[in-house]
Amino acid sequence: MKFAQVIVDVSAYPVDRPFDYLIPKEWEELIDTGCRVKVPFGPRNVLGFVVGISEESDVPVEKIKAVAQVLDLESILTVEMLELAKWLKHQTICYEIDALQVMLPGALRAKYEKYAMLIGDATQLASELQPYFEKATKVNVAQFEKANALKSLKQAVNAGLVLIENEVKQKGQVKQVRKVQIASLEQLEVVQQQIKRAPKQIALIEWMKPYAGAILMPDAICEAVNVTSAVLKGVIDKGAAEYIHEEVYRDPYTKEIVHTDNLTLTDEQHNALTKIKQAMEEQRQETFLLHGITGSGKTEIYLQAIQRAIAENKEAIVLVPEISLTPQMTERFKSRFGDEVAVMHSGLSVGEKYDEWRKIQQGKVKVVVGARSAIFAPFKNLGIIILDEEHESTYKQEDSPRYHARDVAIWRGKYYNCPVILGSATPALETYARAKKGVYTLLTLNNRAKSQALPTVHIVDMREELQAGNRSMFSQQLMAALLERLERGEQAVLFLNRRGYSSFVLCRDCGTSVQCPNCDISLTYHRYQEKLKCHYCGHEEYIPETCPECQSENIRYFGTGTQKVEEEIFKLFPQARVLRMDVDTTRQKGSHEKMLDAFGRGEADILLGTQMIAKGLDFPNITLVGVLSADTSLHLPDYRAAEKTFQLMTQVSGRAGRHDKPGEVFIQTYTPEHYAIELSKEQHYTPFYEREMHARHTAGYPPYYYLALVQVTHEDVVMAAEYAGRVAEYLRSNLSFDVSVIGPTTASIARLQNRYRYQCLIKYKIEPKLIPVLLQLIKLYRSEWIKKGIVLTVDLDPQMI
Ligand code: ADP
Ligand code: ZN
Ligand code: ZN
Repeated sequence: MKFAQVIVDVSAYPVDRPFDYLIPKEWEELIDTGCRVKVPFGPRNVLGFVVGISEESDVPVEKIKAVAQVLDLESILTVEMLELAKWLKHQTICYEIDALQVMLPGALRAKYEKYAMLIGDATQLASELQPYFEKATKVNVAQFEKANALKSLKQAVNAGLVLIENEVKQKGQVKQVRKVQIASLEQLEVVQQQIKRAPKQIALIEWMKPYAGAILMPDAICEAVNVTSAVLKGVIDKGAAEYIHEEVYRDPYTKEIVHTDNLTLTDEQHNALTKIKQAMEEQRQETFLLHGITGSGKTEIYLQAIQRAIAENKEAIVLVPEISLTPQMTERFKSRFGDEVAVMHSGLSVGEKYDEWRKIQQGKVKVVVGARSAIFAPFKNLGIIILDEEHESTYKQEDSPRYHARDVAIWRGKYYNCPVILGSATPALETYARAKKGVYTLLTLNNRAKSQALPTVHIVDMREELQAGNRSMFSQQLMAALLERLERGEQAVLFLNRRGYSSFVLCRDCGTSVQCPNCDISLTYHRYQEKLKCHYCGHEEYIPETCPECQSENIRYFGTGTQKVEEEIFKLFPQARVLRMDVDTTRQKGSHEKMLDAFGRGEADILLGTQMIAKGLDFPNITLVGVLSADTSLHLPDYRAAEKTFQLMTQVSGRAGRHDKPGEVFIQTYTPEHYAIELSKEQHYTPFYEREMHARHTAGYPPYYYLALVQVTHEDVVMAAEYAGRVAEYLRSNLSFDVSVIGPTTASIARLQNRYRYQCLIKYKIEPKLIPVLLQLIKLYRSEWIKKGIVLTVDLDPQMI
């Protein structure tokens, strides 16, 4: 008899060990480790992963249940992945099932159909299979299941005659967009006659006349004429236009890619690459910190290292922070390696992501460029792993499993004996500290690849501007510089450090902003839909006409920071063509690429945007960068605030003067004396590193101390507070003396999705008891507290506190 050890997916009362199930005789050859199965668990069948197979079981035979259904004929998780899951479970203290799920594309968790595709010679198939493939090369696997022919099918798969494909059932309806078709000129005239006292409607109709008959996006119309959608609806009701619905197709924005060849490396690049290649040659795991200023040619090193891996028939993973934001980066990989590259990012649909994953799994590509989760790309012979902009916080997952891609990269590097490159102009403090200690090998690029000078950075004291009577968002200096660029026909990038800004609705009489009913947070104003939304729980409501607190009608909308800036630019420089890039203007798929391309073609003079323009932008005609307010990220309640500000300033400054024309940068600030700002002027990392390390040492923060965060939530505030108190008590009495336990305190958002949140922060230097104590606490939680509705989470190495 054979038994499968199965990790089951039960979310209500998760269990965290494999259970034994009997493998029915006829499936013995079918079920492998790494396959998914359905197994009886309690009253129903649940999804499970086979993590092992054995000849015996400790469970008495009469009690053991049998596997109910086989979901995969080939393993979808390799032996490596199963081991990695176990490691993740211990490393991040999560359920093994969470670790297994995170490695798979969403499609394998969704509903899908399996098909057997004939790829070999049909006459070589077992005779019971042949009839199925007489007329078709693609047959639903359910048919073989019914006919009890799975075993033969599996043999055919093993013999390479048949391929199993999963097809995701797309969620029924086709996607549609609502557009507006403008009526004929005569009709517009008629409607205009009817309107008496509505100047906005009249202005709108005036505007529409040159577009008679055209089909336009409603948002674009409202934006162009600066009216609300209610005004638009008003004229549509009167017959000036009509709404039409158009179907949108899956359109993963494609464009022609021009092949590029290796560049001749500079000496610095050559030295760095040589060390990396050495590790590849000796098949040695070595972690490199490639510390190179912006524009020093780190990417070219990645490309040539990958080329080496491919030449050895090995594969490469390249992680970039949220890749959909940096189309230029993806293009560089595609232009070098063409079809060998798969791309994975959050902008793809479930089906598209699955397609890319499949290419990797089947060995059809050699390189994946992707965001965090691409670190789990199912390659089987990795030759190199690269994390670009390794300091980015998006590499840490904030839900279970709370892993850091850097740690997973190093684990996989060890598994395959291959190097890992961490690249950055402004490495995370921890990373640089490790490189200095020799844990990582430090490779430094001090010069720009094409020996362009770094841009000249000016720090502008906005307090002085205010004293001089300038109340606008632009300092005199920045205005002058912008004007100069406009006159010379060069381009400028204006960066709004958006955190701290958001669009909301405020009562001018009592000062109340409209709050989410489920979370302790203000609702965000979405101008084009005329709605208020919660970005945390998805709650939506219409804008109230009167203040919910004092019933005043004096309600004011504050648009996003970028909208305000755009309006101001328009007043100051009416001749400027501005491209605004923020969450509002880039909601549609592919809009990012399109906007960046347009800017690259010189279709705008000024690119205005948020964080999303800070990275990867590389155009020769950009000679000016303006940071409108550097301070916003400095005052966040986060011990990394100074580090993040320095990183951001360096990143943004790096967008200017990357090619022949020299660049200039203006950083506007109310705290020019802060070292994070002052030191970003010279863009020298090391003085900043030393200064910040000193601050961390004094305040007792990483990398001198480690942090762990335990969070307790409950629907009832009293319960949440009580159990958080118990957690603190438990930690204090079980951890060593010199470990400090801070809390319980309320989390920075005290209530989220109707759950109250408390937390305890653990600060420690060396504490061998930490993991055992936390595991003990979790045991207590899983066996008793969970029944009372408590949710407890542990984050080792939290990014936000
Ligand atoms: P980083 O990734 O360090 O910011 P990039 O790789 O983007 O730097 O390089 C900056 C610019 O220099 C790019 O336009 C790139 O094509 C160019 N470049 C890089 N290496 C070389 C080289 N060895 N010779 C000439 N140009 C180079
Ligand atoms: Zn009010
Ligand atoms: Zn909410």
